[in-house]
Amino acid sequence: MASYDVIIIGAGPGGYVSAIRCAQLGLKTAIVEGRETLGGTCLNVGCIPSKALLHATHMLHEAEHNFTKMGLKGKSPSVDWKQMKAYKEDVIGQNTVGVEFLMKKNKIDWLKGWASIPAAGQVKVGDDTHETKNIVIASGSVVSSLPGVTVDNDAGVVVDSTGALDLPKVPKKMTVIGAGVIGLELGSVYARLGAEVTVVEYMDAVCPGMDKDVQRAFKRILEKQGLKFIMGAAVSGVDASKTKAKVKYALKKKPDEEQVIDADVVLVATGRRPYSDGLGLDALDVKMTERGQIATDAKWATNVPGIYAIGDVIEGPMLAHKAEDEGMAVAEVLAGKHGHVNYGVIPGVVYTTPEVATVGATEDALKAEGRKLKIGKFMFMGNGRAKAVHQGEGFVKLITDKETDRVLGAAIIGPGAGDMIHEICVAMEFGASAEDIALTCHAHPTYSEAVREAALACGDGAIHS
Ligand code: FAD
Repeated sequence: MASYDVIIIGAGPGGYVSAIRCAQLGLKTAIVEGRETLGGTCLNVGCIPSKALLHATHMLHEAEHNFTKMGLKGKSPSVDWKQMKAYKEDVIGQNTVGVEFLMKKNKIDWLKGWASIPAAGQVKVGDDTHETKNIVIASGSVVSSLPGVTVDNDAGVVVDSTGALDLPKVPKKMTVIGAGVIGLELGSVYARLGAEVTVVEYMDAVCPGMDKDVQRAFKRILEKQGLKFIMGAAVSGVDASKTKAKVKYALKKKPDEEQVIDADVVLVATGRRPYSDGLGLDALDVKMTERGQIATDAKWATNVPGIYAIGDVIEGPMLAHKAEDEGMAVAEVLAGKHGHVNYGVIPGVVYTTPEVATVGATEDALKAEGRKLKIGKFMFMGNGRAKAVHQGEGFVKLITDKETDRVLGAAIIGPGAGDMIHEICVAMEFGASAEDIALTCHAHPTYSEAVREAALACGDGAIHS
């Protein structure tokens, strides 16, 4: 059996990116993946397929709602759902094959199968036990269950996100349990395809963790697009037949009154849990957190020497780019360098239309700490480019320190927010002030001018508001 400098368990964005960086740094590297294809949750059943469906249905929305306004006349496209799913599968295939190519190019061995760790320095895959100096666990996460609700993706009535990406047909009525990122993205997809979508959420606001004004504006925009919301509602169970389901819930303010909502499809989008089943971590006495994550130190080391962990299976936001950053950083640690991740500057994006992007601290959290702030807000209604493409909704909100003008965080609801947020990420990495952004010439006409205007609003005032 070959012996390695590092074996990485799991080929999601954390694992495969880590493997590439390990190989680039001269470490003899193998990656273990139990799925048939590389790329993990993200490429196979997460980020990439959901964005393919969001793109296709956004195009449909444009054709149905905005084409005639721009003088583009003719028959609106009809939906060939089978073909739309084939397009999504093609996008997945191109990406997973691309990762396989990168493994070969970097001379990384793909050990196919499910791994376990009999002892530090050993990884067992099938009947083979491989020797290695270091192990990086990047085994990711899986959908978490909800008491009283049985998911059956094959039956296609009560599904999780994986099932929702592959429904046999577009439902007439869909109930989404959970108003987080995944529920709202997939809810948007089906709303654009014509489904009547109702989102049932336990909290009183969408997307926990965002500032209240952002949550309110985002919910209003989605409501205008036809999504319905039942907030502050605790789901107690789902009764499903072969073709229909009933979601039972009670409003928190009327806990004794059971209510029921009918649907053709129920999407359970209440979160994900770290996945380390079958690795044998108990027997190795690997320390876990109370939430079932693998506990790591600041260098991603577990309490067992030679075993590291990254990505969704450890603490922190469950995001592909966070996993990737940790993957690169742990590779550098293993190669004797100084891997680093700035957890204060990890953007989060909801890929609806308009997109919602956030980074850094929220106004609500900073105010609760007693920080003195200056907030610069600029509405996209004042941005010529956004208006030209019928996307004048939303705003840029820049949160800065009142004394120093340093940028502490931001939220953007608007066209291309997921790309635009990086200007603010870079500014935060450089310790920039709002004035630095305001003094930077921004090309006209771009959506990014709204970021500059928000920065100007932190000083003497925005120009176009
Ligand atoms: P994963 O991607 O979960 O990969 C872990 C891999 O390890 C899996 O392939 C698994 O098969 C393998 N594995 C586990 N145990 C073993 C074992 N014992 N042996 C061998 N292999 C094993 N994040 C974003 O940043 N942007 C988005 O737009 C986004 N959209 C999403 C949409 C959906 C519908 C979902 C479900 C998730 C989305 N995410 C998104 C989250 C993102 O997918 C995860 O944060 C990311 O995939 C985590 O990467 P990871 O490498 O830690 O783990």
